[in-house]
Order: sequence, then structure tokens, then C-alpha cells
Amino acid sequence: MNWDPQLSLREWRGRLLDAGWAVPSWPRRWFGQGLPAWTDDVVYDELARCGAVSSVPFGLAGPTILEQGPDALRERFLRPMLTGDEVWCQLFSEPTAGSDLAGLTTTAVLDGDEWVVNGQKLWNTSAHHADLGMLVARTNWDAPKHQGITYFVLPMRQPGVEVRPLRQMNYHSSFNEVFMTDARIPRDWVVGEVDQGWAAALATLAHERRFGTIGRTRLEGIDEGLALDEARHEAAETAKVYSWYPQRAGRPDLAVPHARQADAAADPIARQELARLLAMQRVSEWTAERAKTARALGRPPGPEGSIGKLALTRMARQAAKVHGLLAGASGLLAGDDPASPFGGVIAEVLISVPAQSIAGGTDEIQRNILGEKALGLPREPDVTKGLPYREARNR
Ligand SMILES: Cc1cc2nc3c(=O)[nH]c(=O)nc-3n(C[C@H](O)[C@H](O)[C@H](O)COP(=O)(O)OP(=O)(O)OC[C@H]3O[C@@H](n4cnc5c(N)ncnc54)[C@H](O)[C@@H]3O)c2cc1C
Repeated sequence: MNWDPQLSLREWRGRLLDAGWAVPSWPRRWFGQGLPAWTDDVVYDELARCGAVSSVPFGLAGPTILEQGPDALRERFLRPMLTGDEVWCQLFSEPTAGSDLAGLTTTAVLDGDEWVVNGQKLWNTSAHHADLGMLVARTNWDAPKHQGITYFVLPMRQPGVEVRPLRQMNYHSSFNEVFMTDARIPRDWVVGEVDQGWAAALATLAHERRFGTIGRTRLEGIDEGLALDEARHEAAETAKVYSWYPQRAGRPDLAVPHARQADAAADPIARQELARLLAMQRVSEWTAERAKTARALGRPPGPEGSIGKLALTRMARQAAKVHGLLAGASGLLAGDDPASPFGGVIAEVLISVPAQSIAGGTDEIQRNILGEKALGLPREPDVTKGLPYREARNR
């Protein structure tokens, strides 16, 4: 047993990494054991059972760099990502390139040993405290739309990068606008190949749809240690950004308590909608289990990611409907007004649920993916296909 309450979080995670137990499903060369994916959760549970802090919140950059390489980037970035020393954000969406991500216009030009980046990104979660960004930018305007894009690692803390927080309608502030003005990236900080970044971007999106945010530090049941104090602080900082995410998912866990509180047992419509929600919740859990099993069997991300994401969205909407039905007009009361059900949580649910069907690709885009990739339906016609993007963009 290597856990020592006197170790700092960094030292403890360093030990986990060196022993290959940071992410057990990753290859031995990269801090893992090469075990099946389902063992990650088992190991994190066992660590927590021994009273030891587990794992790190490593997000989407980890699996993308692990899959796409090159080794120099795996060497440089995976370790500080897993110790929590470097925090990442995703710089994909732009004001005119969200669903149509490949229509992005942020541009990177090679200048000696550095890339120089100009453009704007939008809706970038956690960019305000990130050290590094997963950035997709156009590097070849003469190639067709999907072929002139490169996936970079952007150092966020530099004069050429300006991060402006946005305020949401639920009063939280998780997103930012990121402006890049002659921002600099070392020449080799390219994930995959120059001009071939679309494949790496698809890998990130597939992981996002399949698993949501990856990696979680487990603290339940642990009662002492310097690492624990630091991990609690880290979790509190993360929670500031993600505190409304349970509300975004509709809080189905509150539906039965809410029905009891509203004394709705005799209301046939409320009962019917509640039963529908509970059925959806169960189906959504099974879908997530199927996706997890596919991952454990080593299958690449497939359509179950899109199915699972749609299931979550439908469940969130149904939960919001149930809460609205039970609360009536008082569901709109925010804060801890005595008439406000669950201390304003229901009001937050009602205005946060729409985000569920947008983040990580909208419902319509998931349906397009399923139609084209799983059902083999014809693709949307594209009259600009094969044209240099410089020309296609103006059609
Ligand atoms: C909670 C949250 C977190 C996010 N975090 C990040 C982040 O960290 N980094 C990042 O880069 N981005 C992030 N985003 C942005 C997100 O990826 C985009 O909002 C999303 O891809 C949609 O793009 P858009 O907002 O430009 O909408 P648009 O693409 O403009 O879509 C508008 C509407 O048109 C529909 N539509 C568009 N194209 C089609 C089509 N071909 N067929 C059918 N319907 C279509 C859409 O479904 C939608 O209803 C986040 C968003 C949310 C809500």
C-alpha cells in the first residue's frame, strides 16, 4: 500500500502514474496497465475503498493524444495532464462554425519554428482557467474543406490569446469567447498530421459523445491526507464550472421526491409522465452500459455514442416536463424563496436543459450521424464537395 496521507496530490499522482495505475486501461508505456476499459472504474473504486485519492480529471485531450500521437506530444503532455498540473480546454466552435465545424476559418500560418494563429472561438468551457487548448485551425485554404485543417495544442497563457467569459441565461458562467491575435504555437505541437486534423477532431468528438467528460477524482469515503485537501480544492474549482450540469441533465433523481412533495400520487397525468421518465432513465442507463461494454471490448467509438447522447437529451427534456407539471408556476421561482421548490433547483433545471441538446453536437447532428453512418442513408448533398475551401466558402 503506497498511499501516504503526508504526500501532496502531485506526489501521490506521480506515484500512481509511475506504477501504471493512473488510467489502468491505457498502455503500459503511457502510465497504464493495458487492461480492458471497465477496469478503470474498478481500480478507482478500490483505491477509494483503501482511503486513497483516485485518478485525475483528464478530459478529452488525453484519449485524443493517446490515439493520434505523435509520441513527442504523448511524452510532453500526458504526464502533466494526469497529475492535474496542466488544465485543458476545447477550442473547436466558432461564431459561424458549430454544427458545421469543418467550416472553421481560424487560420494558422507557419512562420519559422512557430505557427501564427488568428481567429475567434466561442462557447469554450473552462478556457478561463486553462493552460492549454485543443485547437482546430485552417492551415490550407486551397485544400477541400475537411482536408486543410490541423489540430494543435495552443498555449493559452500568452499575449496573443484573450479569453472573455460569457454569462448564461441560468446565471452561471462556464463558457468563454477566445480571441487569437498572432498567437504562437511551437511548430511541432501538432496532434496527428498537418492538414489532417479532421481525423483527430472526429476522435475527440466521438469520445465526447460517447462518454461526456472523462476522468473523475473519487473522494467519497476518504478521510485524511494533504492530497485529499488539495483534491477537494481542485474538485471545488471544477465544480464552479460544472455545478449546473446535473440541472442540465434534468435532475431525474429529484422527480420522485418532487412528486411526493407535491402530493401527486392521485394525479394520473403526473403519474404517467413520471413513469415515462423512469422508463427512459432505465433505457438510457442500459444504452450507456452498452457503450461501456463496446469500449471494454476495444471497439472504436461507434453510433452508440450518438444514440446515448440522444437518450440523455430526451430524458432531460422529459424530466423538465415532469418538474414543470409538478411545480406549476412556482417552478420558475429561483433562489431559496419558501415557495420555490427544492431551493430554486427546479427553476435552474427548466432553463438549463436546452443546453443538453446542443453541447457536444446538437440532436439534429446526432440524427444525421445515425442516418448516414448507422442506417446507410444518403448523405446531405454538398455542391461544394472537392472544391478548394477558399472557393467553396463563397458558394
Ligand atoms: C454546455 C455546452 C458546452 C460547450 N462546450 C464547448 C467547448 O468546450 N468547446 C467548444 O468548442 N464548443 C463548445 N460548445 C459549443 C457546441 O459544440 C456548439 O454549440 C454546437 O456544436 C452547435 O453549434 P452552434 O451553437 O454554432 O449551432 P448551429 O450549428 O448554428 O446550429 C443551429 C441549429 O441548426 C441546426 N442545424 C445545423 N446544421 C444542421 C444540419 N446539417 N442538419 C440539421 N440541423 C442542423 C442545429 O441542430 C441547431 O438546432 C458547448 C456548447 C454547450 C451548450
